[in-house]
Amino acid sequence: MNILIINAGSSSIKFQLMNLENEETKIKGLVERINLDDSELSWKIDGNKNKKNIDINNHKEGLKEVLDLLIDPEEGVIENFKEIDAVGHRYVHGGEKFKTSILITDNILKELKDLNHLAPLHNPNNLSGVKAIKELIPEVPNVAVFDTSFHSQLPEKAYIYPLPYKLYEEKGIRRYGFHGTSHHYVAAEAAKMLNKPFKDSKIITCHMGNGISFSAVENGHSVDTSLGFSTVCGIPMGTRSGDFDVGIITHLIREEGYTADEIHEMIYKKSGLKGVSGVSNDARDVEVAAWEKGNHRAQLALDILHYKAKKYIGSYIAAMNGLDALVFTAGIGENGWESRDAICKDMEFLGIDLDIEKNKIRGKKAVVSKENSKVKIMVIPTNEELMIAKETKNIIKNS
Ligand code: ADP
Repeated sequence: MNILIINAGSSSIKFQLMNLENEETKIKGLVERINLDDSELSWKIDGNKNKKNIDINNHKEGLKEVLDLLIDPEEGVIENFKEIDAVGHRYVHGGEKFKTSILITDNILKELKDLNHLAPLHNPNNLSGVKAIKELIPEVPNVAVFDTSFHSQLPEKAYIYPLPYKLYEEKGIRRYGFHGTSHHYVAAEAAKMLNKPFKDSKIITCHMGNGISFSAVENGHSVDTSLGFSTVCGIPMGTRSGDFDVGIITHLIREEGYTADEIHEMIYKKSGLKGVSGVSNDARDVEVAAWEKGNHRAQLALDILHYKAKKYIGSYIAAMNGLDALVFTAGIGENGWESRDAICKDMEFLGIDLDIEKNKIRGKKAVVSKENSKVKIMVIPTNEELMIAKETKNIIKNS
């Protein structure tokens, strides 16, 4: 069964065609700089990279290029679109309505549109990806796999904010959580590595990429997670602030004349590693500045990240009354052993005992805790695409 996985962002589309029988990726690639100068389509087949520059003005044009590439007699990997059994779309926000993945019928398409306001930077792009595919290959079924689904069973006390309750009732203001597909994938993998049933395990998953979120996963469900209504809270990220005293916002508006747009720009684009270090949003650049150039603010930015990460882990151990595995994933989590080292340092009291030498790996699945560590510390490369493909297959099979 071949599943085409589509992740449509504001100016890019990631795609991957996967054969689920052997979990083999036939082709994966990226359309970049949509509606900007120098749009580009790049792809990889069997480790061989290729690219071409083409004018791409919108998602539909981008996806048309992708589909043409798939069936191209020279470069392609399939003969015709009948070989695509379904398309799985990464969909950021499912709101309260969509707690699981869903087959996208015309009615569902309308309901998806109603969610745009919850994630205005993401959902409209996901939606235009779906619409484009429906127009280009109408005979192939589409499935939406939501970043929020895995968190849909958070307990009320974890998702209701201590604000006037009517904000929840009337405006849908609550914690939703994101990166769910990644948390789900690595938590399920961790349970396998623990040799424990997923439904009988306590796991903390640390998704640390450009965006960062941690989840407390108890008995197979996310019971708390650090991103919330929006993608700006929790642990500081590349450019996003993470948690801070919200009184600062009203102070800046009332005393310093900041506008809503300026605040938005500040907390989404100018904070986190970038804001504190003044160097970059990219963890590696910040590390180079801190460790090779002795830049104090770069070191401070990393220290804040590691300190907040450590505090979240502690709070989730308290929330679950225990922990079997602590899992690191995504760019920093998989590769930045120095960050794993800093976060796990001095956590023996909580049963977290890292093996400094085993931990010195990048991008490989491994257990990196000491033999006798009560909590197993794991590095598990995430695979959101595989998870989306599997979800898509399940939905198609059962519909
Ligand atoms: P995205 O959220 O865009 O998918 P990624 O998961 O690719 O992001 O993570 C990007 C982050 O991972 C960047 O901050 C990058 O610096 C960091 N990263 C990648 N490789 C390393 C490494 N070897 N050491 C430390 N950080 C790394």
